[in-house]
Amino acid sequence: MNNQKKERQVNDYVLLFSAGAALGTIFLWGASYIFPEGEIVEGRRVFENIPKYLQYLFYLLSASSIFISGYLFSLRAKNWARGTEEKRKVKISQRIVSLFDGLLMRTLLRFKAAGLMHSMIYIGFLGLFAGTITLEIHHLMPPSLKFLQGTTYLIYSFTLELASLVYLGGIAWALYRRIFGTEERLKTKTKMDDYLTLALLGFMGVSGLTTEAGRIIVEGFPDYEKWSFVGYFIAELLPIENGVTFHRISWILHVISFFIFLIVLPQSKLRHIVTSPVNMYLSPKERPKGAMKDIGNLMELDDIDSVGVELIENFTWKQLVDLDACTVCGRCTSVCPANLTGKPLDPREIILKVGQVMSDTGEPPVPATVTTPIDLKVKTSSVFERVTPEELWACTSCKACDEICPV
Ligand code: SF4
Ligand code: SF4
Repeated sequence: MNNQKKERQVNDYVLLFSAGAALGTIFLWGASYIFPEGEIVEGRRVFENIPKYLQYLFYLLSASSIFISGYLFSLRAKNWARGTEEKRKVKISQRIVSLFDGLLMRTLLRFKAAGLMHSMIYIGFLGLFAGTITLEIHHLMPPSLKFLQGTTYLIYSFTLELASLVYLGGIAWALYRRIFGTEERLKTKTKMDDYLTLALLGFMGVSGLTTEAGRIIVEGFPDYEKWSFVGYFIAELLPIENGVTFHRISWILHVISFFIFLIVLPQSKLRHIVTSPVNMYLSPKERPKGAMKDIGNLMELDDIDSVGVELIENFTWKQLVDLDACTVCGRCTSVCPANLTGKPLDPREIILKVGQVMSDTGEPPVPATVTTPIDLKVKTSSVFERVTPEELWACTSCKACDEICPV
């Protein structure tokens, strides 16, 4: 009864949020017609060279993609709600500290190369995203309050160029680590999904810059656009006289790549952008670090089978959120004494296999974190469809995996 109530609440909340965000996008569309564009001096004209019908499509598809993305997230939340009750009585301040540890990548920065690479992608992405929001605010303002012109526009342009370079530099670094890196934990789990994900992220960044270059060509290379130094440089390199078609095609591809990103986000490992900070906010618990949960006096139990977990429904909802927050980084495996001494235990695999059982048996099923071969798909929610007792008995309960896990 309790679980049903929780399931309804979680799904409704996520779905309601996405519906609100989609309606908000439609509202922004309407609001953009309240004031005329007005005269912009040495600044940014929004939707320049983009015909009206493409602008309408942009808002409609943006709203649809946001809603679909939220709906797909709600299916994952439905899986978390299959778990049992778990209350963590901790102060909100502890949760906020933990959340900021995640957002500021403090846990990840313990590993210098990986931490810096992730920070570059994350900070660059956030910078570009903030730039897009700023542009939309500018778009909605009455002519007298439009601020992306003059010196403000130069600073805005220069900052976004830096963000683009940082973002693309991080992606190039990530690709390099995947292709040429020697770290065993990355090599053993790198799949086509990882390359496609990085290709999508990279395409979003590159198409943003080529769109900017196209716009600079259309505008006739104004001097103030030199502050958009990467876009300006690309514009000079392009052997194009009339940039109208190039700019439109580049804009369309850029926008489509963002829609794909929104829809792929809940379906792939990329979702850790959202689930990891959420998980870190939820993580603090009242038990001292390393202390295990009291399982009571086993001698007094009527049914010994009621101890521990077998079905997905036996885990707590928080443990199920943990499964969807995994980034597949493999740090847990790299420090596991059982794994290092040749025992049949790989903690990353345990998380992925249990996550797969949860995903495959969801209603409806959702994609597992890592693509699973069809012959390994499961039909019941028993974790022993994928995990063997030998793997579990090899664990020493040292919690080294828990300590090093960045999420
Ligand atoms: S608790 Fe220790 S032995 Fe068990 S999986 Fe984690 S690191 Fe390995
Ligand atoms: S459980 Fe944690 S440490 Fe292990 S692969 Fe997932 S994110 Fe990395």
